[in-house]
Amino acid sequence: MTLMEFQRDFGTEEQCREYLFKKRWPDGFKCPKCGHAKYFNIKSRSLYQCKACNHQTSVTSGTIMDKTRTPLSKWFMAMFLLSGDKRGASALAISKSIGVAYFTAWSMCQKIRHAMGTRDATHKMDGIVEMDETFFGSADEGGKRGRGAEKTAAMVSVSLTADGKPRFARMKVVGAVNGASALSFAESTVAKGSEIRTDGLNVYPVLGRNGYNLVQKKYSPEKQSKHLHWTHIVISNAKAFIEGTFHGLDGIHLQRYLDEFCYRFNRRWLTGGVFSQLVLACALSGKITYHELIG
Ligand SMILES: [Zn+2]
Repeated sequence: MTLMEFQRDFGTEEQCREYLFKKRWPDGFKCPKCGHAKYFNIKSRSLYQCKACNHQTSVTSGTIMDKTRTPLSKWFMAMFLLSGDKRGASALAISKSIGVAYFTAWSMCQKIRHAMGTRDATHKMDGIVEMDETFFGSADEGGKRGRGAEKTAAMVSVSLTADGKPRFARMKVVGAVNGASALSFAESTVAKGSEIRTDGLNVYPVLGRNGYNLVQKKYSPEKQSKHLHWTHIVISNAKAFIEGTFHGLDGIHLQRYLDEFCYRFNRRWLTGGVFSQLVLACALSGKITYHELIG
């Protein structure tokens, strides 16, 4: 979708509200309180009132846009910008593009990333899955990169097609790389019974004892260039994305950027379809409080 087409289809509040309504209630309105289908449309306040229980709801209530004071057309433009380019868009760029304060744009971006992560968390990978650990962090004072106390650890999994091409990717910030975090990551991202391929690190054997077909091999770039091949490429792309655009990330903020990276990666073959999927993700995400937002 071009910017011109976007502005034609989503330039007004009414267009955005109608579109969001269809995403949220594809089979027609359903009262969030009692499930009734008939409603009064209170147009002056953009509310829908249930004819059975009188509960009033809006198209944004209970989503990441709950009680927003920012027009929907600006939210839609932010979603369009975040879904359009594989490098994403910074909060600063978005604040300038849609004409809101930096903090408003930052908070919108974080909420949209939260919706992306929530959406991907509903899917579990299966078949053959590569898994690895990595460390994110900016260069230390000496300019060298490597494992260090200030680095943030993350687990990474990439599922493969039968002919060895990457399908889906997930990444999770963990406090430490150990058996417990590896198992928890596997259980939240990979279906039991799948084959999980890892390096020789001693944190992985627990997967083999918990319903996964574990294939562990010491990683050596010279001898086994295919082992964990795609995972290493995905990690390196994620680092380029994060270090090229954003700096000084840790903890919950890093997690949201990883969610954004994986969200787009997982939909990279959809030509022109990511925006509409992202609106759906935001409509179904559930709301997030300011406290949760800042971690
Ligand atoms: Zn009702």
